[in-house]
Amino acid sequence: MNIEELANLLRENGVVGAGGAGFPSYAKLNSDADTIILNCAECEPVLKLHRQVLEKYAYEIVSTFAEIAKAVEAKKAIVAVKKSYKGAVEAVKAVLKDYNKVEIKYLPEVYPSGDEVFTIYEVTGRVVPPGKIPISVGVTVFNVETVYNIYKAIHNGEPVTQKFITVAGEVKNPKTVYVPLGMTFKEVIELAGGITTSDYALINGGPMMGREASIYDTVTKTTNAILVLPQNHYIIQRKNANTNIDMKRAMSACCQCRMCTDLCPRNLLGHPIVPSEFMHAASSGTIRDIKPLINTAFCSSCGLCELYSCGQGLSPRTLITEYKGELKKQGILPDRDIKIAPVSKMRKYRGVSKERLTARIGLAKYETPAPLDTAEVKVNEYKIALSQHIGAPAVASVRVGDKVKKYQVIGKAREAALSVNIHSPSDGEVIAVSESQITIRQEGGR
Ligand code: SF4
Ligand code: SF4
Repeated sequence: MNIEELANLLRENGVVGAGGAGFPSYAKLNSDADTIILNCAECEPVLKLHRQVLEKYAYEIVSTFAEIAKAVEAKKAIVAVKKSYKGAVEAVKAVLKDYNKVEIKYLPEVYPSGDEVFTIYEVTGRVVPPGKIPISVGVTVFNVETVYNIYKAIHNGEPVTQKFITVAGEVKNPKTVYVPLGMTFKEVIELAGGITTSDYALINGGPMMGREASIYDTVTKTTNAILVLPQNHYIIQRKNANTNIDMKRAMSACCQCRMCTDLCPRNLLGHPIVPSEFMHAASSGTIRDIKPLINTAFCSSCGLCELYSCGQGLSPRTLITEYKGELKKQGILPDRDIKIAPVSKMRKYRGVSKERLTARIGLAKYETPAPLDTAEVKVNEYKIALSQHIGAPAVASVRVGDKVKKYQVIGKAREAALSVNIHSPSDGEVIAVSESQITIRQEGGR
């Protein structure tokens, strides 16, 4: 299969990055990539899907990864994984002998080793320039579940209609489930035995970069985890903090110790994001040097500065995120050809161990196994979002009252735009269509 054939297949079958922003995978296929990386860092505390999926489907994933390498004519295909994921490492090694282009490299057991820029440096020694994408240094990165979805599209003709999700925290039986798109979080949590506390809050994603969610939210192609925490948990309190108060606290308490900068993973790679300088400039109203403000665009929002580094409990990430959002709205862009500093000599000593991070943010008690359960799951109704990826949403191609078949296209990729098809996870009837969502009642459902 050549690049064009593979790209068409992935667009048709709705394959997007299974996590993060959901970048359509067809648009990542590029013959400029001399190296492709399978990212199995899974660096957020509590999440446990990628390592288990890689262990269970090692043959499917490694063989498909080799096919992608062949299609884009990459010289190297590297499985980037942590040594501590012993089951996944053994499973990959067992199939590796049949794929001479594929090799394993081990990532450090630190946060955020799954950040693409971080992973690429660890694996290839190349630094993706600030504001640029991995292909600018000849690399393309895929996550484990994305490659599994590519396997299903190539070999079974199956589009993406399911998602692996770790359900953890205050639930009876933490587990990693494989569920249809469009289920509510409430239904997914019930698969893990239900919530064990009355006063709770939900996070969609990992504790560091995930966002607060509701039990009525629905599963999309990028839902990696549902974390249930007590309402008064440190993580929830930090996510709910008022930014005006955060700014006032920064004004009164930032002692310019620079710890946020010293541990900033992007700064350590030479990127010009300097959170301590931003905090000084923003909280004191200093505009003599606007660089620390403009360069907020280069922050990855990893959250380390505010959830781990700052001894004063201040919120550089939140304030930076607010500031860069404002710059974007006003169309102010940083210089994309900015010169970067050399990688810091201190970088190797300043990695934040995931174990320490987990303890620091009060999640050690939730760092339990979340075994993979791939039993088929059905619900009565599926609420399928038409925008589950970065780029243009799909356009509904069904109407209320239509009968649909499992895997049928219900949302067409927008022509000449970055977009992918959306499919039905079940036989059923369309009972509602809006600009953003299609609701399907399963055949035989109530
Ligand atoms: S770590 Fe906290 S106190 Fe220190 S410079 Fe950064 S924001 Fe200020
Ligand atoms: S969130 Fe903080 S630590 Fe992470 S990249 Fe941004 S400034 Fe650096």
